Amino acid sequence: MSVTELFATRTEGMHASEIRELLKLLDQPEIISFAGGIPDPALFPRVEFAEALAWATSDTEAAQSLQYAPSEGYTPLREWIVRYMATLGVSCAVDNVLITAGSQQALDYLGKLFLDPKDTALVGWPTYLGALGAFNAYQPVYGRIDPRANRSAEEITQKAASRGGRVKFAYLSADFANPTGLTFDRAEREAILAKADALDIAVIEDGAYQALRYSGTAYPPMLALEQARKGDMEACRTIYCGSFSKTLAPGLRVGWVVAAKPVIQQMVLMKQAADLQTATLNQMAVARVAEAVFDSHVEKLREVYGHRLNAMLASLGHHMPEGVDWTRPEGGMFVWMHLPEGMDGAELLAQALRTQKIAFVPGGAFFADGSNRNTIRLNFSLLDDKTIDEGIRRLGEALRAEMAK
Ligand code: PMP
Repeated sequence: MSVTELFATRTEGMHASEIRELLKLLDQPEIISFAGGIPDPALFPRVEFAEALAWATSDTEAAQSLQYAPSEGYTPLREWIVRYMATLGVSCAVDNVLITAGSQQALDYLGKLFLDPKDTALVGWPTYLGALGAFNAYQPVYGRIDPRANRSAEEITQKAASRGGRVKFAYLSADFANPTGLTFDRAEREAILAKADALDIAVIEDGAYQALRYSGTAYPPMLALEQARKGDMEACRTIYCGSFSKTLAPGLRVGWVVAAKPVIQQMVLMKQAADLQTATLNQMAVARVAEAVFDSHVEKLREVYGHRLNAMLASLGHHMPEGVDWTRPEGGMFVWMHLPEGMDGAELLAQALRTQKIAFVPGGAFFADGSNRNTIRLNFSLLDDKTIDEGIRRLGEALRAEMAK
């Protein structure tokens, strides 16, 4: 017998990510890749981190930075997050904050916290692939969040019961979602919160791209809206997941959760069991850099990425054939495209890689049921305007060839 036959049933829902497999193929320099979803390394605050790491490993700090630390996280970093959340309209205490190894770890813990097998998780259609990956290990079924749909709470609850479990949470990015780049407006946020109240479920708000707004006016996070209505953080059902990955550097793996204390306390127990704590040195470096340059650095990112987003939208306007449509985000890292009915994003990718030397991510993987294969995700954070324009021109050629088939 092979040991693979001993794997637990939960592994059945764990598949290799289409994106990660694809990224392995993209090392060739002649390929223009819109497939990434990562920050531009040229924009990392490298000098600031060099200084911060030198400080953290200095005589006075090393006994702390190289030592075990509390599972909740490094207190000055949690205090910085309390102040940062206040700028977004969320009033919380240090005890409402847990530091995680990136927001990805928070998604895993939240799956572990809420999901019994066959419970229903409500997600966007499409949604962040990494969230599906994190939740899949807990064997849920998925339902669809649609703030404009009229389905009653009873209908949703009954459907979940007929599938063998309960609705436990809605997971969403309210700002510049991965993969669509789209944002929920205030009315949509309120509608989702009201539906969550009616269903009596948690809301997991993924704020990974929240700070990266390039135009338009910001909406408060859903947690802020809920708190404004209910007054007290402890009465809130929204769990906010933040990350320094898109604003400072993903390689340090530092993110956070803000939620009511019982949620944080249970997640602290998970953290203790899983990895004891997020790396002390990394937390200290992030705290130091965030304190010194967070606002000015994010301002710089907004300028550069905003410029690239505009370049991509302009190029799409020039080069796309009739019959395709795309989102016009105000932030984040992605534009999402609808291809003509019946066209397959994965087939288009195979053809585009071969004939045009361009890459992007086929959209089907972002749907919990693998539907809507006539979609693709385009990333703009890594390329300069000229390369974006040349890549989008080639995408237009690839689309015309596919349409002529
Ligand atoms: N949420 C979303 C929507 C993301 O796109 C990502 C990263 N691609 C993450 C969470 C995870 O980011 P991290 O773990 O680096 O904070």
